[in-house]
Amino acid sequence: MPYGLGLLKGMLVTLTNFRRKPFTIQYPEERVPQHPRFRGEDFVWYEERCTGCASCAKFCPLGIIRIVTRPSGMQTQEGEKYALEVFDIDLARCMFCGLCVEACPYDALHMGSGFERARYTRKDLVMTIDELRRAPKRPSTWFRPQLEGKGYNPHTDRPLEWHEVGRHQAPSLADMQGRWVEER
Ligand code: SF4
Ligand code: SF4
Repeated sequence: MPYGLGLLKGMLVTLTNFRRKPFTIQYPEERVPQHPRFRGEDFVWYEERCTGCASCAKFCPLGIIRIVTRPSGMQTQEGEKYALEVFDIDLARCMFCGLCVEACPYDALHMGSGFERARYTRKDLVMTIDELRRAPKRPSTWFRPQLEGKGYNPHTDRPLEWHEVGRHQAPSLADMQGRWVEER
């Protein structure tokens, strides 16, 4: 190969790509828009919907959800709702597979939309029940067709209340009492 030809070829590649629109951005000044179905951290948990059944913990392949419950004495006609004492998710080990969200029968747990929860220690990456209570209620639409059907975008729309995120309408007290009486 004549001397300098390789250098010329290399420069040609550089010049060709120099004119192309870059795919990269200057993060954090600029941000790539996320899809509404993005599976991020800061899980969205609605305590009002949660019965403490622990299905999410049982289905997590990594066993990183820890739930401790006690009898609450509430909703006894529906089989009793547990009161939650501990609900921890170890985000340091989470692979954001979403199986816990798929397993939740009451649409109480949803994937979050964030991705900037960096911490200096692993133990600070455990999301506790208090953090779950405080976390922004902007659920990802992943595995939530009821939110996708409404065109909800967690990145731009308002946070949602517990009664807006379920597939089913919760029965009223009158409904529950009526059924209880009918079944006797
Ligand atoms: S997203 Fe997957 S790994 Fe993370 S807590 Fe849920 S089931 Fe476990
Ligand atoms: S978040 Fe869902 S699956 Fe997990 S304990 Fe609560 S109701 Fe059960």
